[in-house]
Amino acid sequence: MNTIDLTPHLAGLEAGQLRVARCRACGESRFPPKPVCPHCRVHGDIEWFTAAGTGTVWSYAVFRKAYFPPPGPQPPYVVAVVRLTEGVQIISNVTGDVRVGLPVTATFERVNGTPLVRFRPA
Ligand SMILES: [Zn+2]
Repeated sequence: MNTIDLTPHLAGLEAGQLRVARCRACGESRFPPKPVCPHCRVHGDIEWFTAAGTGTVWSYAVFRKAYFPPPGPQPPYVVAVVRLTEGVQIISNVTGDVRVGLPVTATFERVNGTPLVRFRPA
């Protein structure tokens, strides 16, 4: 079975960095790194790198119900698909007034000791 090892990504969050993978064969970024590159079909052969932490809101939804008890997000909060400058999309929270196309930058915080990445308007 092919498993996705997110250890480098999680270590990046611990260090306040947003790390994503890129295919060594074609150079395309991807996250999460699936076993086969969707661009060139090469199996495996990825490297992790630190993304700029910038991007734009591609889509979003405003959640008006609490799905997790505190310290989980309390409504209303935004869950967005952020397209990073490197071309990959990541699902995360965005704070502040949000709209499609909004430039955002990553912020790092800890919730119950777990490091998280969120985004705010750039
Ligand atoms: Zn590739």
